[in-house]
This record gives sequence, structure tokens and C-alpha cells, in this order.
Amino acid sequence: MFKAAVMYNYNEPLKIESVDLKPPREDEVVVKVVASGICHSDLSVIKGNLPMLPPTILGHEGAGIVEEVGKAVTNVTPGDHVVLSWVPDCGRCHFCVAGKPHLCERLYLVMMEGREGVFLKDGMEILRFNSVSSFSERTLVREDACIKIQDDAPLDRACLVGCGVMTGVGAAINTAKVRPGQTVAVFGCGGVGLNVIQGAALCAAGKIIAVDLVDQKLQWAKEFGATDVVNGKDVDAVDAIRSLTNGLGVDYAFEVIGAPAPITQAFMSIKRGGAAVLVGVPPFGQEISLPAAMIPLEEKSLLGSLYGSANMRRDIPNLIGLYMQKRLKLDELISRRIKLDEVNAAFEAMEKGEVARSVIMFD
Ligand SMILES: [Zn+2]
Ligand SMILES: [Zn+2]
Repeated sequence: MFKAAVMYNYNEPLKIESVDLKPPREDEVVVKVVASGICHSDLSVIKGNLPMLPPTILGHEGAGIVEEVGKAVTNVTPGDHVVLSWVPDCGRCHFCVAGKPHLCERLYLVMMEGREGVFLKDGMEILRFNSVSSFSERTLVREDACIKIQDDAPLDRACLVGCGVMTGVGAAINTAKVRPGQTVAVFGCGGVGLNVIQGAALCAAGKIIAVDLVDQKLQWAKEFGATDVVNGKDVDAVDAIRSLTNGLGVDYAFEVIGAPAPITQAFMSIKRGGAAVLVGVPPFGQEISLPAAMIPLEEKSLLGSLYGSANMRRDIPNLIGLYMQKRLKLDELISRRIKLDEVNAAFEAMEKGEVARSVIMFD
């Protein structure tokens, strides 16, 4: 038995429980979770905005040490340090073969079915969330969810690459493929937005304009490489972006909130030939309306970006490598290190905009 934070119902605090794991199938791995970031998508599930079923154990930004492997597992062995990927890519489906493993069929099967009851509490099955379930001292994942990383990387920082860092940095590097000198705006400077900013900085973007409503987040944005900041409470963000870019607008505007108003603002702030990159996930059923004529007449586009359009097996170890060379910021993302039983308070802090990331540390 070990401790985990169980979600029994939407809009209720998570409950710390003693649970067990089923024995690993031949393609599964038991991981001792060392650290887990708390991501906004976990909160979206609690609020019922993402269609994931309770009872479940949330957390999808985890890192840990492999403890036990099924008979057929070949890519990791006990003792390996791993970051957990929430897309356990199969390597064989249409999308994996097309070089888009982050869109692997398996992700969508998991989202549709969502019924992988790998945890047990008094005989009741508790579902694995998003192929990971890292709000738990131990978890059981598919072999393909385990991305082996170098042993000397600190796991409390490495875990962040499993979602927020990969999602943000990858949106700039892989989805937009920002080129040196191009201009960028980022709407929303939370955990993921800060990583879009540092991704754009890694691409040598010429101007990186951070937009948020919270001054503290704009201060963080500067530390992550923003060249200019705009508080949307004080000024019209679209006007401000235009005046910072000689009236042109930016090459890429990233929306990292997931709401219609900032999506429209992002679209309105790109130049002719530019693209708005949608990273934030709006609630299911939400629609947006945009001035359609501008799409052909000004050759503007909308790009969706999931998981930083990553090749996880390539990109996660690469980002860890950049961190070890001090070229990627991870330490600065962590506002608070907490214990598992402080998880509900951490969600409140996230909602108030007090933290970039809280990280749960397991003993
Ligand atoms: Zn996430
Ligand atoms: Zn696949």
C-alpha cells in the first residue's frame, strides 16, 4: 500500500488514500514517483472541463525511478530514471509512422475509453489518468510512457519537462518553428506560457512580447526571455503589440490560456502571413469566431499545438540536456515544493495566479 491523491468526483477536493497497484502486465512498468508537477490540465479535469472519468488519480507531469518491469519490457530496466510521457506512443500507427508520435492513436483511445483501472482501493478499481497518474507514490504505466533520461538530472526539475516545458518550448520550436529574428507574442504567462517564451528565446526570436493580466507573471516573463511585457488590464493588448512591431503585428502569437477572447486577440495581433498558435485547451464545446476574410486575404493561419508537437523520445532527453548545460530554465519555474497532502491548496494557489509551478515531492 502507498499514498495517492484520489479524485472521486468533479469539483471536490482530492482525497489522500492508501491504494495498491495491480501487478504489471507484460508491457507495463511500476515507477516509484519522485516528483510531480501540478499542471493546469489537472485542474481542468477536477472542474469537469476535460472529459476524464472519476475515480482517478490525477497528475501527468511526473518523474521517477523504474522499480519493476513486465516480461516483455525492453526499453527500461529497474533503477532507470524516467520522465513520464502522457502519450505512450505505439510507434506503428498512422501518426507515429508519419513522424507525429504526439498524435498517436493510443492517446485518443485512452481519452475515449479512459478505463484503465490500474489502482485498487478496497477491491474498487481506480483509473489511471492520462496514461500517467503521478499524484501517487507509485504508478503503473505502459513501457512506452517511460522516457529514460540521464541519471544525474534532478528529478524534481526533470518532471516539468513531462508536460509544461515540453508543451511550451515545443510550441515555439516544433509547431511554429520560430526563426532567428522573427517576432512573437505570448498570451498567458503561467507555467506553459513561460516555456513558450523560453522556447522562443532558444529560437533567437527578435522580439518576444509577453501578455498577461498579473504583474508578477509579467515579471517572471522577463526572467524567461520576454523583451517586452504588456498588461492587458491597463492597455489594449492588440494595439500594444502593433505599436511594438512598427504597426506590423507579430509573426507568431501563442495563446496559452484556452479562452475565446485571448484567441481572438492573438489572431488580431499577427502580421500578414503570420500564425496564431493555440496551445491552451478551451473547455469542450467552446466555439470561437474570427474575421474569416483575413485568413485568405492576409494569409493568416491558425495552428494547433499539442504537447509541443513533440517527438517525446527525442525531445525530452534533449531538453534535459539543455537544462544540464544551463541553457534551459527549470529551477526558476518552481514556485513551491509541497507534500502530497498539500495538493488541494496548490490548486487554489494556481487559480489565484500565485505560482508558476508547484511540485509535489515524494519521500
Ligand atoms: Zn499538463
Ligand atoms: Zn502510434
